[in-house]
Amino acid sequence: MILITGASSGIGKSCAEEFAKKGHPLILVARRKQRLEEIAKNLKKYKVEVHYYALDIRNKKDVEAFAKKHAPFLEKTKILINNAGLAKGVEPIQSGKTDDWDAMIDTNLKGLLYMTKAVLPFFLKKKLGHIVNIGSVAGYYNYPNGNVYCATKHAVRSLNEAMRMDLLGTGIRVTEIAAGMVDTEFSTVRLGSHAKAKKVYEGMVPLKAEDIAKNILWVCDQPAHINIQSLMIYPTDQAAPGLVHRKVN
Ligand code: NAP
Repeated sequence: MILITGASSGIGKSCAEEFAKKGHPLILVARRKQRLEEIAKNLKKYKVEVHYYALDIRNKKDVEAFAKKHAPFLEKTKILINNAGLAKGVEPIQSGKTDDWDAMIDTNLKGLLYMTKAVLPFFLKKKLGHIVNIGSVAGYYNYPNGNVYCATKHAVRSLNEAMRMDLLGTGIRVTEIAAGMVDTEFSTVRLGSHAKAKKVYEGMVPLKAEDIAKNILWVCDQPAHINIQSLMIYPTDQAAPGLVHRKVN
């Protein structure tokens, strides 16, 4: 089974589709249950088992309860895709909102840790498993007004490396996917408006969620002795955060 967090939209939703196409049973997690329900319905065409749960990964107690209640599924889980995440706001540090900071730190960092902690005992028992952490190029380069989001993704990169070290010898693989601009709901969530989000991708060709999902599938399809520790994927039109080629009409 493949456990995907943030499966109600964007990269997580595309991962569900790509892994289902290959016949993998799925456990989908996000806060919006109705979205997950629709996605699970749509995946029926692939004739794979799909389970879905409304879960806010920021809530430690809920994650622990999820792991306890669904232990039989987690026993069968071989890949955890730690994808749920978000950016909130693009403000200089001096005018950043502490609620936005909490949302990013609690989701991108603490939520990822809670989910990892929930799944690891099952992986360790089997001496098998793969944790795919969705980082970002923002985990390698800061950019003006990206402060806390960049910090959380730097932390994801750091944790990815730390997990690799601590889990060495257990047979568990750990991979970070560091993506550049992907056209999902990410910018709408960040900027609070679809119109503003559209401008982010104006005149350039961003990555699609399925581009990332296909690369995640490739990473997971490697033979057991190969661990792709980190994969950085940019659109051709982007060379660094903020360094984007745009066609002018
Ligand atoms: P998206 O379309 O907004 O999807 C984000 C997903 O995360 C949604 O399914 C959302 O579901 C879920 N989520 C957010 N908070 C959650 C919580 N507290 N508990 C459970 N699920 C939660 O954005 P995306 O681009 O696919 O983002 C996926 C990952 O890629 C994120 O970690 C993001 O930082 C990373 N990333 C994105 C880009 C980009 O340009 N798009 C670039 C680099 C990295 P609910 O709202 O239903 O909970």
